[in-house]
Amino acid sequence: MNLAVVGTGYVGLVAGACFAESGNDVICVDSDSQKVESLEKGEVPIYEPGLPEIVERNVREGRLTFTTDLDAAVRKSFVVFIAVGTPPGSDGAPDLAAVRAVAEAIGKAMDQFKVVVMKSTVPVGTGELVADIIRAHTDKPFDMISNPEFLKEGAAVEDFMKPDRIVIGAEDERAAAIVRELYAPFTRTGSPAILTDIRTAEMIKYASNAYLATRITFMNEFANLCEKVGADVDSVRKGMGLDKRIGSAFLFAGVGFGGSCFPKDIEALIATGRRNDYPLRLLEAVMEVNAQQRIRFLSKVLSYFGDVEGRQFAVWGLSFKPRTDDMRAAPSIDIINGLLSRGARISAYDPEAMSEAERIFGDAISLSRNNYECLSGADALLLLTEWQVFRNPNFDRMKADMRTPIVFDGRNVYDPAQMRQMGFTYFGIGRS
Ligand code: NAD
Repeated sequence: MNLAVVGTGYVGLVAGACFAESGNDVICVDSDSQKVESLEKGEVPIYEPGLPEIVERNVREGRLTFTTDLDAAVRKSFVVFIAVGTPPGSDGAPDLAAVRAVAEAIGKAMDQFKVVVMKSTVPVGTGELVADIIRAHTDKPFDMISNPEFLKEGAAVEDFMKPDRIVIGAEDERAAAIVRELYAPFTRTGSPAILTDIRTAEMIKYASNAYLATRITFMNEFANLCEKVGADVDSVRKGMGLDKRIGSAFLFAGVGFGGSCFPKDIEALIATGRRNDYPLRLLEAVMEVNAQQRIRFLSKVLSYFGDVEGRQFAVWGLSFKPRTDDMRAAPSIDIINGLLSRGARISAYDPEAMSEAERIFGDAISLSRNNYECLSGADALLLLTEWQVFRNPNFDRMKADMRTPIVFDGRNVYDPAQMRQMGFTYFGIGRS
């Protein structure tokens, strides 16, 4: 099938590459000409395991191309996916400027029947809005579909190729069947497709992210209480997670969630609630507790040292979670800025997010070539992202390199008793 994917970011590039990998002819469109140029040269601008190989193979075999020319891409395609960003707007509701612009451009470019598929995460009702915009610019027929994306950065290709489920919101069964057919190569092992209306499909995406973010926050709240009453949140997590009604995923206490999705999607839901005269008090509390979580961590460091002026801190992990270079809304940014503003010095290491960190912090922090280099002379180590490489380091070397062997473990990666036995002063989350 001939497909266009408009917006070649984390979602659009993964979707485009994976659809090409299953034999479709895919044109990925982006308004960022620099991004398109580097993709044409085979350079994948994001870190996503397995993606460069798929992009390279499909470009070489002619199934995957990149362009800034949306008109031509739409005319050559039967199905057009919209995967542009929907960043938070000033009132918490997503800024739909890119979605609207793309809808208008699709409408103007339409020369015959198309299926238009919304993959971006958009508030309930946006499918109808987009259809109205397209209709205002064309008299050609089209079908509108909502097909929210559930991939996780860091495992995006795997998630796309082996989805837990596909959600297809449609008003027309024929169009839903076309999208279902596109996903057939990825659902052969039995992943179900949920067929529903557009508004419900849009809501499924938000409800899923809100629930996951709430689980994380629930555990952080318990971690904080564990610290007060002398319980161990990691054992609480295990004890709870074994209950089949609860399950073990997304129950890890830490410095809180970040990233480009959870914070913005929950803010969007809160805005939807407000607009519909139904304040979402549970989700308002989730955002509040989550914002406090990184501040609590920073306060732990500040209250241990008193004054951090002139002190040197090593930071392991900058991305908002492991296996991605994405630092959007990462806890590391607020924690590092909190220390910098009080006169501390930071040297940091992340396996993949170093360029992004350089873009964000410039020369305000020093970036190390590996995780040991930044320990040299450090008053303490702050572990902020649970990359695999930090799980089993050479603790003797760490102790020898640091000025004082103090570890603030923001992800509960290490065993508190072992750390203390090895001579570290150790602070975890909810593990007093
Ligand atoms: P992104 O910022 O990585 O990519 C968006 C791309 O769209 C950028 O390359 C940008 O240049 C391009 N773009 C913006 N305006 C454009 C226009 N008018 N024409 C053509 N291209 C344009 O965003 P993302 O992380 O891929 O997210 C895209 C959508 O998918 C968002 O709604 C997001 O909430 C949702 N989503 C993201 C994830 C994730 O893990 N990143 C997961 C599921 C859903």
